[in-house]
Amino acid sequence: MERESLEMDVVFVGAGPANLSGALHLSRLIAEHNTAVEDGKPEGKSLGEVQIGVIEKGSAVGAHILSGAVMDPKGLAELIPDFVAQGAPLESEVKEDFFYYLTNSRAIRSPINPPPLNNHGYYIVSLNRLTAWLGEKCEEAGVNIFPEFPGADLLYDESDRVLGVRTGDKGIDKDGKQKPNFEPGVDLLAKVTVLGEGVRGSLTKKLIRRLGLDEGREPQVYSLGVKELWELPDDRYPAGRVTHTLGFPSDQWTYGGGWIYGMQNRVLNIGYVTGLDYRDPLIDPHAEFQKYKTHPFIAKLLAGGKMIRYGAKAIAAGGLNAMPRVYSDGVLIIGDSAGFLNAARLKGIHSAIKSGMLAAETIFEALVASDYSSAKLQAFETRVKESWITPELRRYRNFHAGFRHGRWLGMANAGLQYITGGRAWGIFDRDHQEPGHQAMQKLSAEQNGHATAPRYKDLRFDKQLTFDKVTDVYHAAVGHDEDQPAHLHVLDTNICATRCTEEYGNPCQRFCPAAVYEMVEVVAQAASLRGNGVHSSELQSEPPALAGGSVTEPRALASGTQTHADTSSLPRRQLQINFSNCVHCKTCDIMDPYQIINWVTPEGGGGPDYVGM
Ligand SMILES: Cc1cc2nc3c(=O)[nH]c(=O)nc-3n(C[C@H](O)[C@H](O)[C@H](O)COP(=O)(O)OP(=O)(O)OC[C@H]3O[C@@H](n4cnc5c(N)ncnc54)[C@H](O)[C@@H]3O)c2cc1C
Repeated sequence: MERESLEMDVVFVGAGPANLSGALHLSRLIAEHNTAVEDGKPEGKSLGEVQIGVIEKGSAVGAHILSGAVMDPKGLAELIPDFVAQGAPLESEVKEDFFYYLTNSRAIRSPINPPPLNNHGYYIVSLNRLTAWLGEKCEEAGVNIFPEFPGADLLYDESDRVLGVRTGDKGIDKDGKQKPNFEPGVDLLAKVTVLGEGVRGSLTKKLIRRLGLDEGREPQVYSLGVKELWELPDDRYPAGRVTHTLGFPSDQWTYGGGWIYGMQNRVLNIGYVTGLDYRDPLIDPHAEFQKYKTHPFIAKLLAGGKMIRYGAKAIAAGGLNAMPRVYSDGVLIIGDSAGFLNAARLKGIHSAIKSGMLAAETIFEALVASDYSSAKLQAFETRVKESWITPELRRYRNFHAGFRHGRWLGMANAGLQYITGGRAWGIFDRDHQEPGHQAMQKLSAEQNGHATAPRYKDLRFDKQLTFDKVTDVYHAAVGHDEDQPAHLHVLDTNICATRCTEEYGNPCQRFCPAAVYEMVEVVAQAASLRGNGVHSSELQSEPPALAGGSVTEPRALASGTQTHADTSSLPRRQLQINFSNCVHCKTCDIMDPYQIINWVTPEGGGGPDYVGM
């Protein structure tokens, strides 16, 4: 296939805060350098016009950005010192900070806020809006931004030096054939490629494996944040108020906590984080969040309000010990892709911005020296170590790992490590983390045959306070062209209806917060099985019984589906992938117990549209 090649100097994959800050800072460093050379100041020569490109899989900058978010402004203040005067879209300065422990029926206010959650002087933001604003700043500085361009593959030379990125093809139908609007992806060649794909980046994952960049490091661990925006009828929760909660509905072996942030115009931003290292295979992070809202303290807050937006995204929680090597020949890894988020503070925007700036400074030096080797780009890691990112992460390096010992020991460990500079007590220093999916236990004898956990038996989706996944996904404004191959590759579908059903009860149906995965009963003969997949339209599939709107297996919202038969003997249960529901949270790629789900980028522009999130 003929592909166009486009030579750029630096390509940033992903238009998140990390990469946009990197692109903006780099463009300024180059402009300052060239001006200084023209004025005859430093030795050296002008870099001339340096082509900087940012590609983004979403339909626009910010479309796939989902966060809390309370922003520690120190990163943005370094990038744009007068960001307030320049009109950065800020919802409110944080004016009040609360921390509650929720029992099943009561909310107990902590007399002190845990220090990592002290947010005075910070800002509540919609990261979607802030990112779009950063995108505008980049364009004003001459950076080329290409929305609807997913990075589908990295390009390497024979010695594994990264040469750039191949963007995804457009116009491939569900059977893999070219449609009339077919356009092959472009090879964007670059001296340095920067991966700022956010959490569990699909190219980052492949690069780390190919080059062994995680050798000697702890495995990364994750959480999943599920959130909604609500319009309230009155001023009961002012902009600038921040509340964090611990306790209900998590059990002591499941890492979890809630947040409630007051935004402008009576909009409430509410969400719940569940650790993607839970033990009970019947846990459903979306249902955890719905249950959270039924707590009297929360339900009262939302009474009379209206849910207006929904979204979900994974969070990298492993911290310093799980950070991969962040450089190699021709490539850097920054932001959440590198795991710079501080899980104890639930904050990563500031360090994403800072890491982008440090990457920019490293790339600038590499451009001046015309040296893009690993040896030169290693300076990025040194810069990270010498910046405030590393001491901050060091102080919380055992935070998440401590919760493997249960909530109370985890809390004790968190408190102790705050005092001991991250060490906590000896046994928890460099407590070894296992990949989160390995923590999932097999179904017990009592659980077997039950799709629903007893913990959700009273949960009903009344569509006022609580919502099923399909209704929530509608509020994420997700769109994918349905005539394209599924971007969720299940590498061995034979496992689904056999081992996985028996061992874990098909947990993909529960850990996915967007009703993408569904086990369906196929009741008619499927005459035309093709390869490992058939399309559901060719089968009469019967959706699983919905028990009066109670929490149970999800149903498909959209018709962009692919069904996988395990063998040719039907009727039987099969996995149906409703890929067009996908909100790009990456949970399936992370939490599948057999690690056979591979999330790849769909056609450009597909996915959620997180306006105001
Ligand atoms: C639920 C939740 C709550 C959070 N709350 C807070 C908070 O209160 N405060 C805080 O500071 N931080 C918070 N964070 C963390 C914060 O959002 C991240 O640390 C920050 O967004 C990281 O920025 P990034 O640029 O590295 O990645 P992202 O913001 O994830 O941006 C990555 C971008 O790359 C794009 N992309 C990915 N892969 C490709 C590809 N292959 N090709 C093209 N484009 C691609 C994505 O579409 C996205 O636009 C929260 C995160 C979550 C999920």
